[in-house]
Amino acid sequence: MSKPEIVICGDCLRILPYTDERHCDIEPCPCGGQLCGCELCTYTAIWLRQGVRNRAFLGLQPGPNLGFWCEETGIEDRASD
Ligand SMILES: [Zn+2]
Ligand SMILES: [Zn+2]
Repeated sequence: MSKPEIVICGDCLRILPYTDERHCDIEPCPCGGQLCGCELCTYTAIWLRQGVRNRAFLGLQPGPNLGFWCEETGIEDRASD
């Protein structure tokens, strides 16, 4: 793993291209959550992209179902129900 390429939101789990602003909390996720591009979060994003939908496996807190997760909006659509 070299330099980060993506950040992932801790709340909605949306994946966005890496920027220092996003990683350093200067630019928040559109949902208002915190974006992070650390190695751990990058792995979470990779697993999500590969179809893993098990929160425990991903090291996430219990929360909304990930079955409808998509890279562009994470689980935000559903969280607003
Ligand atoms: Zn978010
Ligand atoms: Zn992180």
